[in-house]
Formats: sequence, structure tokens, C-alpha cells
Amino acid sequence: MSGFLFHDIIFGPVRSRRLGSSLGINLLPVARKICSFNCIYCECGWTPNEDAEKSSLPKREKINHLLEKKLQELKENNMPPDNLTFAGNGEPTIHPEFDLIVKDTIALRDKYFPKASTTVLSNSSMIHEKKIFEALKMVDKSILKLDAGSQEQFERINLPHAQKKLENIVGDLSKFKGDVIIQTLFLRGTHNDQSIDNTSEKEIQLWLQHLEKIKPQYVMIYPIDRKTPAKDLEKISSEELHQIAERVHQLGIKTEIF
Ligand code: SF4
Repeated sequence: MSGFLFHDIIFGPVRSRRLGSSLGINLLPVARKICSFNCIYCECGWTPNEDAEKSSLPKREKINHLLEKKLQELKENNMPPDNLTFAGNGEPTIHPEFDLIVKDTIALRDKYFPKASTTVLSNSSMIHEKKIFEALKMVDKSILKLDAGSQEQFERINLPHAQKKLENIVGDLSKFKGDVIIQTLFLRGTHNDQSIDNTSEKEIQLWLQHLEKIKPQYVMIYPIDRKTPAKDLEKISSEELHQIAERVHQLGIKTEIF
């Protein structure tokens, strides 16, 4: 399965479930996924082998030029976007110039649509790096992934490329001191003969403990929405997601279900 891939550096604006009118900025190659994770539910399909050429990443100058051109066009057509969103064919923070591109984007946002938010969708794998952390602190909305309570389910669901400790990611997420939005996809099933379930009582309790440490602005929870690369996965019902959301509310943390 090849999955759904973006074929442009700047795409949209698209109508997003979570972000309203969202102008996408894809820092990964067009029509090719690069990611530090290989989530079993990824809408882009499986992550190709790690020999992906970073040289194929779009250059900062080109991104800036294309973004400005698009913003001028939207301005002329009186089409203000709600968000300028870093998303696309993989993990945006792996771009070596991510921090500088964020600064460029904030400057263009201020020039053309000062009311729009700058937003990053990230898998949290790079937030231990100071320059990534600081760049994420500069944007209006850092929406960071936390899909599991336990190390075991983290490894089974997100299939991180490098050895990653979930507890370290949680520790790094808590350094945002609440200036962060957590996104969690709930699912069950099997993959490679292993049980996949981040909805069990044990998992939910651990996940809630992580949220207590992180104290995010709010939590976005959602089920599988599109075809997934792993075949035997189950979409969690809206009723069950509401039950999970209620437990987050009881911690005094806002939750939105998508
Ligand atoms: S982190 Fe995002 S892009 Fe990367 S594999 Fe997971 S869902 Fe796909």
C-alpha cells in the first residue's frame, strides 16, 4: 500500500477536521515519505527504508518563495487561512533547517495574515533537541503525538526507528510547561502477531499519568479515519472515545474528539 501522499511543498488550503482552513507546508519530499516513526496506522503508508536521501528535502529558500507566492494569492482572493500548518509526507522536524523555516513562516504570517496561527504536527521524536524544542515554542500550536501509555504499546504502534524511551519523550513534553497540545490516536488490533491496544485499562491509566505530568493545553483524541498500512486494526467507537475524554476532563484537562 502506498498510502496518501502530498505532491506539493505548499498545499491547500484544505478543510481540516482539527484546524479549519489549513494551508499545508510539507518539508518532506513530494510524493515520498520520510519519518522517524513507522506508525502502523499512518495515512502515508509504510515508511520506506532509512536510506531516504535527505538531499531530496526541499530547500529553505524554495519553501519561503512558494509560501509567499501562495499567501499573496490568498490575500488577493480574500481567502484568509486559519492555520499555516507544518504537516505532510512524514515528520517535519527532521528537516535540518526546520528552526529557520519556522522563523521565515512566522515572518510571512505576520506580513500577510497576522490572525492566522502557525501550527506544527509532529511525532515528538525530535523534541529533545534544543533547536527543535525552541522552534516549537515559537509557533502558536505545537500538536505533539503521544499514542501510548506503555513502552511496549509505543513500540508496537509507532515503530520508532531509533531506540526511544517513552518516559524520556514524556519528560521532554513536560518541559513545554503546558504550552503544548497532545494528539492521541486510539486503536486496537493485531500486527505481526502482536496485540495492539492503547485502550486497555492499564494503558489508559499510564497515558493519564503522562498527561498529568505534561499538563497540556488540551488533548486531541481521534480514531482511525482512513485506510491503514497494517490490515488488522479496529476503529474505536465514538462512545468509547467519549468515555476516555471524560477521564481526561476529570484531570482538569480539556479534550476534543475528532
Ligand atoms: S509519525 Fe506521522 S507521518 Fe510518521 S509514521 Fe507516524 S503517522 Fe506517519
